[in-house]
Amino acid sequence: MTTELTHYINGAHVKGTSGRFADVYNPATGEVQAKVPLASTAELDQAVEIAAKAQPAWAATNPQRRARVMMAFVGLLNRDMDKLAEALSREHGKTLPDAKGDVQRGLEVVEYCIGAPELLKGEYTDGAGPGIDIYSMRQALGVTAGITPFNFPAMIPMWMFAPAIACGNAFILKPSERDPSVPLMLAELLEEAGLPAGIIQVVNGDKESVDAILDNEVIQSVGFVGSTPIAEYIYGRGCSNGKRVQCFGGAKNHMIIMPDADMGLAADALVGAGYGAAGERCMAISVAVPVGEETADRLIEELIPRIDKLRVGPYTAEGDVDYGPVVTAAAKENILRMVEGGVEAGAELVVDGRNFNLQGYEDGFFVGPHLFDRVTPDMEIYQKEIFGPVLSCVRAGSYEEALGLAMDHEMGNGTAIFTRDGDAARNFASRVNVGMIGVNVPIPVPLAYHTFGGWKKSAFGDLNQHGPDAFKFYTRTKTVTSRWPSGIKEGGEFNFKAMD
Ligand code: NAD
Repeated sequence: MTTELTHYINGAHVKGTSGRFADVYNPATGEVQAKVPLASTAELDQAVEIAAKAQPAWAATNPQRRARVMMAFVGLLNRDMDKLAEALSREHGKTLPDAKGDVQRGLEVVEYCIGAPELLKGEYTDGAGPGIDIYSMRQALGVTAGITPFNFPAMIPMWMFAPAIACGNAFILKPSERDPSVPLMLAELLEEAGLPAGIIQVVNGDKESVDAILDNEVIQSVGFVGSTPIAEYIYGRGCSNGKRVQCFGGAKNHMIIMPDADMGLAADALVGAGYGAAGERCMAISVAVPVGEETADRLIEELIPRIDKLRVGPYTAEGDVDYGPVVTAAAKENILRMVEGGVEAGAELVVDGRNFNLQGYEDGFFVGPHLFDRVTPDMEIYQKEIFGPVLSCVRAGSYEEALGLAMDHEMGNGTAIFTRDGDAARNFASRVNVGMIGVNVPIPVPLAYHTFGGWKKSAFGDLNQHGPDAFKFYTRTKTVTSRWPSGIKEGGEFNFKAMD
């Protein structure tokens, strides 16, 4: 049965009125399980109007009270963890433990936001001049918005709306149209936690609602996470409309394996980081760079049996499943097209998942694991993000060559080095032009109290997500210089005065 999903506006589920819908699939079976309404510009504008009316009272609510809503929200996320994970797996396809991780890594940012009263404290200079004090405060922006990708439907919305709301803003969330149910559930839970109506609203949609966000004059800031071409587009249009914008794009994360690395550990790490979530992670490792022919041979030898043992299946399967289907039939087609391209370009397909078939789930969007060896930088499979269970091995002759590969790639989200040599690790972390580095850690996603963001074509804007940067992104600084009448003793002043 197909469910008709809604928007979440002014504290209630609201049916779409545009007459346009997108199909939401169960990627494991290939069936359409819901239809999500695609908002018109008018629907988006109406939600913004409601948010603008609700926001001043929320900003005037003291930060401790706002933090208490976050605290209650954490409790409700934990209460409903299983329900959220099941809804997430059903629309996204990832395994249940992975879906819980998706909720958990968002929840940790909510926990961080409970510190809003501390994080929002301003600065004060007592006696900056005779009788003069200067203080600065961080104030909410007003109505803010976020546009999120399909691959982390719980975590990434929470990375945006938790700090935005804790800072006193209203937030309009435009989630991915592929898995919109969890974002709707999160909005409901936030209100159950005590958030007033109109402060979090979910407007489902596609390009029309994104453009409506970018052109709406009331919206002060836009956060985006998704593919690089859309990130670039949103950054350009949002900035030219005078908004504060941060956009996080695609990735092609390299893992350097030095000859002295523990090869078993490196192979275990690569299998998890390359094939977990079917490779649909912006921090997935998609390129392995062993240094030296012997290292490469040993690594491939360790990888093949591990990849052969991977269990691919639906989240409902009994027993352990390592990864599930990819999100749509189109995503599957694109991955297999790129694999064919790699074979034609001369890369060695040492694990071939092209004929993978899961009995009973023939219409699901499952893709078998693939491993390419002897990939070279001129190949499309090296240059472009595949976003599927495909790992490419590029053999480097030296450490400098391996470092150069990571540095010359246009993407710069994450990277890792596996070595026992502290000197090499330190050199790598210091020199590589990538935003997040792992040393013997394959997926170095920083925790909530640090910040997350890539370099080069993986991010546009100057502040990272979550951690202290989020509190800067969602507030603006106001600085007051004050002197009381008793301090004015000498009549008018005509020169720009030094604080002597
Ligand atoms: P996507 O770019 O297709 O979609 C992201 C959002 O943009 C969705 O809400 C979608 O509705 C909207 N959108 C799509 N096309 C649009 C258009 N033409 N105009 C305006 N809006 C449009 O990305 P996706 O497939 O949902 O997610 C996967 C991508 O996200 C990968 O490239 C992945 O690397 C990236 N990602 C990056 C990070 C990061 O932090 N850097 C994190 C997660 C995912």
